[in-house]
Amino acid sequence: MDLIFASHNTHKVREVEDILGKELVSIKGLDDIGFHDEIEETGGTLVENALIKARAVYIKTRQNVFSDDTGLEVYALDLAPGVHTARYAGESKDSDANMNKLLDALAGRQDRKARFRTVVALIYEGQEYLFEGIVDGNISVNRAGVKGFGYDPVFIPQGYDKTFAELDAEIKNSISHRFRAMQALRTFLQDLA
Ligand code: IMP
Repeated sequence: MDLIFASHNTHKVREVEDILGKELVSIKGLDDIGFHDEIEETGGTLVENALIKARAVYIKTRQNVFSDDTGLEVYALDLAPGVHTARYAGESKDSDANMNKLLDALAGRQDRKARFRTVVALIYEGQEYLFEGIVDGNISVNRAGVKGFGYDPVFIPQGYDKTFAELDAEIKNSISHRFRAMQALRTFLQDLA
């Protein structure tokens, strides 16, 4: 089965292909198909942004396509930064500034419960489908660890006492929001196959 993944990030495209399984799907990223249009993520929710991306590619290519959108949702902050996760501290999408802003917002707070949530939008033969993956956890008081990216140094997944940036990539990748959302997509595609 051929699917387009609406992402320019080649690393992410290959990682997702590994999760879905090459025997099940052959995935092309946007760079693989020469799709260079800027897709503006103007949605107010993760679902809206995932659909915006999948629809933009589908309208142009008429091929089966899926996209993903991820947010960090902190309960004490009314689920912020949520859809603004990448740009929490500004348009530069700077991870250090984002983490500083988050730790400042939670300074002195006991309730540090949070979750990463990934929404996947699939357009298959013209029909839209949504999938979700969640990993629950807590925001640490200080940063720890150097692995990973984004908010990994401040996110401690439930059941662990280390941040994502301290845990081995294999562990993170086997419990992560993105992995779980892609597993849900995989189950759906397997049933189709
Ligand atoms: P995207 O929708 O995959 O681009 O994710 C949006 C933003 O969420 C990223 O820019 C990161 O700041 C953050 N993020 C997504 N996934 C992770 C993760 O696995 N660890 C830490 N931060 C993440």
